[in-house]
Amino acid sequence: MSPKNSLEKYHKKRDFKRTIEPEGGKKKRSKKPIFIVQKHKARNLHYDFRLEIGGVLKSWAVPKGPSLDPKVKRLAILVEDHPLEYADFEGKIPEGEYGAGSVIIWDKGTYKNVREEDGKKISMEKSFKDGYIEIELKGKKLKGSFSLIRTKIGWLLVKHKT
Ligand code: MN
Repeated sequence: MSPKNSLEKYHKKRDFKRTIEPEGGKKKRSKKPIFIVQKHKARNLHYDFRLEIGGVLKSWAVPKGPSLDPKVKRLAILVEDHPLEYADFEGKIPEGEYGAGSVIIWDKGTYKNVREEDGKKISMEKSFKDGYIEIELKGKKLKGSFSLIRTKIGWLLVKHKT
């Protein structure tokens, strides 16, 4: 799917005359792919974990937020793709709009795809389709290797031991 098509859901859910969120879809891919975690005080507080994959931000809502403890698996609910412009978004989504509430950037940085099979790099697009992502995060709060694994109950975000 082209990045434009994959943003259809994002656009359908929002009224850009009312929300202050970016319409986006113009920004070019970063040299180094980025990740972002936004703390979102909506009806239910959650953390939105986003990874730049294929020109958009693949996004998961993590109710309890990422954990740095390898023993803790955090449920991550896949939500609609967001435009790359969303990585800079902070502010208050007005009452009555989708996701109403305040958004702040909790952490931001670049990531490295570290998934390999038989010594061969597996693309992020394939890893996403496979439901098995292995990345190294280079943020301020989140550093080191993490996995995102699709299970029957949803995706799980887990920190690696090393
Ligand atoms: Mn959210």
